[in-house]
Amino acid sequence: MSTNEKPRIGTAVAKIIFGLLFLDVAIAPDPEFGAESRGVAIILGVALLLWAYYPFRRWKKYKAVLREEMEREDKEIDALKAALRNRPWTCPHCGANTKGDVCEYCGSAKPRT
Ligand SMILES: [Zn+2]
Repeated sequence: MSTNEKPRIGTAVAKIIFGLLFLDVAIAPDPEFGAESRGVAIILGVALLLWAYYPFRRWKKYKAVLREEMEREDKEIDALKAALRNRPWTCPHCGANTKGDVCEYCGSAKPRT
């Protein structure tokens, strides 16, 4: 099974149903079941419930990691854009070396490249 797969609701529901069945057996007032059988049923039931829940937790974590990566990349892109904006350019109108969107000397707009 792939580790970063989106969990399926149907699979989780089946696990929960089986888990609840085991727990139901564990607490049922049936004299045929001894303490040991009840213990095993409780362990299996709880294990099934955790097994149903675990893929969702892992999926949530994976999505959080993805979101963090995207935010970091967005910041890198913003930094690159800012660096590009602040790159010095030569004004075609007055010939001065300037930076920003408008020539600092004659006020002409930066030509689109
Ligand atoms: Zn200029």
